[in-house]
Amino acid sequence: MKKVCLFMMLTAIICGCRCKPKTPVKGKWALALHGGAGNMDRKNFTNEDIKRYEEALKEALHIGKLALAEGKSSIDVVEMVVRQLENNPLFNAGKGSVFTHDGRNELDAAIMDGRDLNAGAVAGVGDIKNPISAARLVMEKSPHVLMVGKGASQYAAEKGIEMVDSSYFYTEKRWMSLQRALQKADKNGTVGCVALDKEGNLAAATSTGGMNNKRYGRVGDVPIIGAGTYANNNTCAVSATGHGEYYIRYTVAHDISALMEYKGLSLADAAREVINGKLSSEHGNGGVISVDKYGNVVLEMNSTGMFRGWSNSEGLDGVAIFKNHEAL
Ligand code: ASP
Repeated sequence: MKKVCLFMMLTAIICGCRCKPKTPVKGKWALALHGGAGNMDRKNFTNEDIKRYEEALKEALHIGKLALAEGKSSIDVVEMVVRQLENNPLFNAGKGSVFTHDGRNELDAAIMDGRDLNAGAVAGVGDIKNPISAARLVMEKSPHVLMVGKGASQYAAEKGIEMVDSSYFYTEKRWMSLQRALQKADKNGTVGCVALDKEGNLAAATSTGGMNNKRYGRVGDVPIIGAGTYANNNTCAVSATGHGEYYIRYTVAHDISALMEYKGLSLADAAREVINGKLSSEHGNGGVISVDKYGNVVLEMNSTGMFRGWSNSEGLDGVAIFKNHEAL
């Protein structure tokens, strides 16, 4: 009986269904993270690849859940988890960012606090080690929401954020994938985290190298508040991954929140409607991780895979890669 219940709970999470509890109660916490989505085929992964991703996801999840259980705020936790993922070259964010068409790295990141709808973002930066912390700086220390390029870097440097030479972002794997993409379209990736803390506050953070082979100056959905990143204590926190241009056109993250706010949909129904309704019909391949104010975690995708992890104070815990793939 215990096994059946656990299986049902895991299936609900992996398939993007709503899981209990239904009433907001202080003291609960919930967390989800992603490391990008796309059309992933199991046969293109070696067992070692799977193991590397599994370990990376579990490590980031562990950091986040310990912090939430200790009572840290959701805004601190989403930044902390995303920094961890940014530092891991496996993911397309921070250290492992993809290259633009002309061989640069232009990173985007955003963070949003569901308490007061405060938000910060940076776009097109190539010398900030952890763009998510620069996004938080913009949110907390500047009167702005979004800063780009050299202006964002100069501001971050002045405020003491860790800067790096642009060669820090060189990885052989991403360089080779640019070379392949110069001949043929290649895939993308992103990292993100959403959290509900014990005080009932929601937060979201997303960070990316963007789309492989993108044009110089292209900005995706990640730093556009409401497209790839959104948090509102009245509804949910959302972090997206996928083909950014579609996520901007459909203001995906805010649309999920708006369906809950104006139409009273559950998080699961709202996420399904946007990701597997509007978006899939328009080929906006990808997914979202989300958590609502009750602690329900929903991981919805229209691609065949999304690197993802989830955890909550009720004991739910897991990581997965492929769609409908049971927890690793
Ligand atoms: N959404 C990101 C972008 O378009 C890429 C991704 O998530 O795969 O920049």
